Amino acid sequence: MKISYQNNGVTVFESELMCTTCTLIERADHLLLVDPNWLPSEVAFIAKEVERRRGDRELYLLFTHSDYDHIIGYERFRDSAKIIASENLLTNQQADEQMREIRKFYDQYYLPTPWPITYPREASIQVKADYEEHLIGTTHYQFFQAPGHNPDGLITFLPEAGILIAGDYLCAVEFPFIYHSISAYQKTLASLQNLIERENVSLLIAGHGPVSTEQQELKERGRLAQWYLSHLIAYGKSGTPFPEQELWRLYPHYPIIQGKFHQDNLKLAKRELEA
Ligand SMILES: [Zn+2]
Repeated sequence: MKISYQNNGVTVFESELMCTTCTLIERADHLLLVDPNWLPSEVAFIAKEVERRRGDRELYLLFTHSDYDHIIGYERFRDSAKIIASENLLTNQQADEQMREIRKFYDQYYLPTPWPITYPREASIQVKADYEEHLIGTTHYQFFQAPGHNPDGLITFLPEAGILIAGDYLCAVEFPFIYHSISAYQKTLASLQNLIERENVSLLIAGHGPVSTEQQELKERGRLAQWYLSHLIAYGKSGTPFPEQELWRLYPHYPIIQGKFHQDNLKLAKRELEA
């Protein structure tokens, strides 16, 4: 399996499917695993790496949000890990939809279902407030609710190490995909941009595609997302045509699937913003 980043106790695995990332953070007294995914062989590879390195340390499993590609490996780790998730994820009323998508995924590629398909409903650390700090072992974790892309996103920051785990925000391989709310997305993006201005972020891990370790690039990703949102909002509010040519010049690689996501965003903009 591709390892897209490895340094200072941080390993980022990248699936061959949609460049979806899975992160393993090793601290002196625990490991944190984030969104293990997609293919059974890839999750098996990740599980083997976790076991190889774990020793007698506690394992925590964090979900950045409930989109099915990010929770697909839950059952593989549920008995060996303590779960961290937002309260919104744990109480998600549309969980069946994600379960259905997982079932459909195994079915359409003739993949034997590797373990029962289940949804996380309980957690050792359940993040309820907009912002919470938790101490795990000797490591401080900051958690921020991050609705917008979907309703139950959670952003995680480790101030001592400067590690920012952003879920599906600030991905280099895609513009904002918005399944939930454009105004919520804007707020989340603004707080992410504030955090990047305020803190010393040395590593940004996004849910799809490469990490970033460069301040310039971090800010550029924020600016690009902002560019997309502002045109989406102008389209939704007053019908100003979206600069499609510019969009596909910036994101030339996956026009069929991303074209569909863009069309869905445009429809949401009309629904949510039209006066
Ligand atoms: Zn995703």
